[in-house]
Amino acid sequence: MANPFENAKTQLAKAGKVRGFGKKELDVLMKINAIHEKELHVTLAGKETKLTAFRVQHNNARGPFKGGIRFHPDVNLDEVKALAFWMSMKCAVVNIPLGGGKGGVVVDAKNLSPKEYEDISRAYIKSMADHIGPDMDILAPDVYTNPQVMAWMLDEYEKIKGIKAPGVITGKPLAVGGSKTRDYSTAQGGVFVLKQAIDLFDMPPFNTKIVIQGFGNAGLHAARLLHRIGYKIIAVSDSKAAVYNEKGLDVPKLIIHKNSTGSVRGFPGKEISNEELLILDAHVLIPAALENMITKDNAGKIKAKIILELANGPVTPEADEILFKNDIFVIPDILANAGGVAVSYFEWVQNRTGYYWEEDDILEKLGILMFKAFKDVYEASKRYSIDMRTAAFIVGTSRILEAERFKGNL
Ligand code: NAD
Repeated sequence: MANPFENAKTQLAKAGKVRGFGKKELDVLMKINAIHEKELHVTLAGKETKLTAFRVQHNNARGPFKGGIRFHPDVNLDEVKALAFWMSMKCAVVNIPLGGGKGGVVVDAKNLSPKEYEDISRAYIKSMADHIGPDMDILAPDVYTNPQVMAWMLDEYEKIKGIKAPGVITGKPLAVGGSKTRDYSTAQGGVFVLKQAIDLFDMPPFNTKIVIQGFGNAGLHAARLLHRIGYKIIAVSDSKAAVYNEKGLDVPKLIIHKNSTGSVRGFPGKEISNEELLILDAHVLIPAALENMITKDNAGKIKAKIILELANGPVTPEADEILFKNDIFVIPDILANAGGVAVSYFEWVQNRTGYYWEEDDILEKLGILMFKAFKDVYEASKRYSIDMRTAAFIVGTSRILEAERFKGNL
């Protein structure tokens, strides 16, 4: 399995080569500001259990660290470092005043009871409380964490510190200071940039077939929003199964099915493997599950013309080369899924001002931000005749380096 942090380094080196970065610039960009590794003591299935937890803070030249927290058995330090690094790039690409951080707990969240979920969430904050804060490092949901988890974490933080500090965590329920649209903002941001890419390819909605891998927060809302504006979602998958219907899935019914059964398995359509799903004859492929799903082994078989990376790091660097050679337009994660952190930033602003915005205001602001980010990255890709990922790295790294220069760190 490719190491995501090595992938991140390869991506950065590629951008550095185009822009002629020296060792000094590369060192500043790769430097991890702090790594916090803790042991959480919780009771799981009646047994005292120790869980490993991480918080990695990559770069804060442009603002406080910002990044999600994931509960997953495969969480490891290199993965969290890569995700923190990508967060720094992502915030810079969409030009919001935040840096990059990420957290994780090594745990299989699928079989946790609500009480166990809550205990882990609170234990995580107890162990990290001195390293996070609205001006220091702001948390958010990621894989297998959700608004309820954010609410427990906020509550624990506020109890420890004895203050109200809703800005320490985003992706909260509305009742405790969340933002409207945050639940679907990652997907919405992706839809905004996908529409611009689709315009470049002149694909009308009713003819455009879309495949989505992963049917959680990012994938489900992407399916919902794209279906609503007329695109045909022909296949989706989750960790248990993949369903395919060449004529297009009935997405609203599929969402009801997923919510009531916990999986897309058993929904009317043909059940296929996740591997088959990736190489279906479609116009757009949306990986919205985990890293390293598109590798050198399957990249050459992909038929989609556009890949929208709602997941973080779903395409390995070797696969990137193959996709670029095959003229597949990859909208990279640090642009494609930046809608989530953009609305998290809006949530943080609302928390800090105590003034809450309406859904339409947020969508308008998000649209402007994503439109500008796509334009900046696309123009860089044309200017340097490079793929969109390297172009996004050039846009992001240039902004971080500019801040580092002003601070005297270069
Ligand atoms: P989630 O836990 O809500 O959903 C993950 C989905 O992927 C689930 O449906 C799960 O069943 C599925 N999955 C897991 N392994 C799979 C496999 N091998 N094949 C197919 N499906 C599989 O998580 P999410 O928040 O939707 O995050 C998904 C991806 O999007 C992650 O890479 C995450 O870092 C990224 N992301 C999420 C957000 C956000 O706001 N939620 C923001 C930016 C990036």
